[in-house]
Amino acid sequence: MKDKKFTDALARIAGPGALLFHEPMRAHTTFRVGGPADCYVEVSSAEKLKELISFLASEQEPFFVLGNGSNLLVSDDGYRGTILSLSKHFARIEVLPSDPQEEEQSRVIRAQSGALLGSVAKTAMEAGLTGLEFASGIPGSVGGAIVMNAGAYGGEMKQVVESVTLFQTKTLIIEEKTCEEMNFSYRDSLVKHEPYIVLETRLRLPAGNKEEISALIEDLRKRRIEKQPLEFPSAGSTFKRPEGYFAGKLIEDSGLRGYRVGDAQVSEKHCGFVINRGNATAKEIMTVIRDVSGTVLEKQGVELVPEIIMLGDFD
Ligand code: FAD
Repeated sequence: MKDKKFTDALARIAGPGALLFHEPMRAHTTFRVGGPADCYVEVSSAEKLKELISFLASEQEPFFVLGNGSNLLVSDDGYRGTILSLSKHFARIEVLPSDPQEEEQSRVIRAQSGALLGSVAKTAMEAGLTGLEFASGIPGSVGGAIVMNAGAYGGEMKQVVESVTLFQTKTLIIEEKTCEEMNFSYRDSLVKHEPYIVLETRLRLPAGNKEEISALIEDLRKRRIEKQPLEFPSAGSTFKRPEGYFAGKLIEDSGLRGYRVGDAQVSEKHCGFVINRGNATAKEIMTVIRDVSGTVLEKQGVELVPEIIMLGDFD
């Protein structure tokens, strides 16, 4: 339990109504599991973020930056630390005017980290900009998508990012990185390895045909509904794609389609997804993940590495 001096100071910095105690993380993850976080703050501005981080560092209080919680498994015991959410106040999306000097027709979309990727893809479509269709069905925030270099159907964030504005949590300095400096690779980026928080990004997208963009988004939406267990809570693909294989196929070939522990299950529709059939605990989900990895390694000789991020204690 945090002492009153700490909570009073945190509440004062966070601002009125921005700090919650014992916030159930199941309300903030697409898996719909996770126990309480000690403290949960809706960060209202970059200045507040700086104040908060500097205070938390001085108190040696652990913190975790939450996006839309769509790639996250939080322990049943929750999180002993402070969750910083940027989803409410960092959600602006803006299409910048085109540069008359430029020959090639392209525009920049500036999106803050808390904006939903689907909303950014919709904005691009409405502005007649192509290249972000792949992202329309990914239920993450811009920040989470940058961190994970989210991708689908042959597209990934790396292809559209021009630059990213980051907050360095040790130096408390805001830095601008080019796409190259972000070190994007398969479900990976600089932010996964260094103490940065994504504040916003600039995406450069070429002009396209609005009807074609809209038709592609619709086609991808139908493909997701057909192939993925969207009717159940999950965090998307549970494992990274091992080079030369597909995680779902390896799991299926290991006889694990529908493998279940409590209410956590390998989806029968798509073996690459572990789903929550209703009342799964994080422990049950973790047990399925560990059992699946162990069996696939034993039967196929391939190591499956989780794509999803774990938060809190799992023994
Ligand atoms: P979160 O889950 O909240 O966080 C993920 C990580 O990013 C955490 O480490 C967190 O600390 C960090 N983070 C979040 N925001 C910031 C920030 N502003 N600054 C610093 N760190 C931050 N993913 C794909 O790549 N392709 C898919 O096709 C896909 N399909 C999915 C389908 C379903 C049904 C679901 C549930 C998930 C799917 N995902 C997919 C997974 C997920 O949507 C992506 O990984 C997404 O990019 C995660 O974003 P988020 O905002 O939800 O991040």
